[in-house]
Amino acid sequence: MNKITIAIDGYSSTGKSTIAKQIAYQLGYIYVDSGAMYRAVTYYAMSKELIHKNDFNVEALIYQLDKINISFVFNKEVGFAEVYLNNKNIEKAIRTLEVSGFVSKVAAVPEVRKKLVAIQQKLGENKGVVMDGRDIGTVVFPNAELKLFMTASAETRAERRYKELVERGDEVIYESVLKNVQERDHLDSTRKDSPLIKANDAIQIDNSNLSLQEQFDQVFQLVTMAIEDLE
Ligand code: C5P
Repeated sequence: MNKITIAIDGYSSTGKSTIAKQIAYQLGYIYVDSGAMYRAVTYYAMSKELIHKNDFNVEALIYQLDKINISFVFNKEVGFAEVYLNNKNIEKAIRTLEVSGFVSKVAAVPEVRKKLVAIQQKLGENKGVVMDGRDIGTVVFPNAELKLFMTASAETRAERRYKELVERGDEVIYESVLKNVQERDHLDSTRKDSPLIKANDAIQIDNSNLSLQEQFDQVFQLVTMAIEDLE
């Protein structure tokens, strides 16, 4: 069966990675969480104190970009590939509100984007990939056979992210999570380089009122149609 490229973009916490993982699993495709790569660079900058309180030493980060090696290693137990920074598993460490609070500023740096987009394109060069992010259908894979653009109300999204953080034991307040989701949406949509916008040929899915099963059924039908179109 011919393999396709599936690009899933959308606002923060719209459940992109959930649906992307389900589809990749169902088809035996590779799943790539491009947001994890921007988070990994942010985590690196924080651990090297290039980010401190509200100061961000952009020049030093650009200078050190060659030292940042990001890879994905499949973890059988969780069923997806986890992100590694210089051979260290940082999958959990990058999901904190601190990293979320700075990642959109790091992601706005063109040199960072250039480096990560090149890695993303390499990971998807043989098709059979589901990648989620903000610019996958517009910049990384403009020729993807299927492009989805996920949306949901900011409150629904913040509630989902809040639950996730609480379940993993983080002490957070809902208002801070909502504020972070709104700030990231704003920064991601208004940056100069590769802003978050819906590609003209992307199919928009608002999942505010969809169950996970309903969402999966809808998306899987679109995937099946896109694969049939190729044959
Ligand atoms: O997907 P996630 O919410 O983990 O992404 C974290 C951040 O990384 C986003 O808010 C955005 O600033 C950045 N990002 C990006 N382009 C992508 C994926 C993520 O700019 N393709």
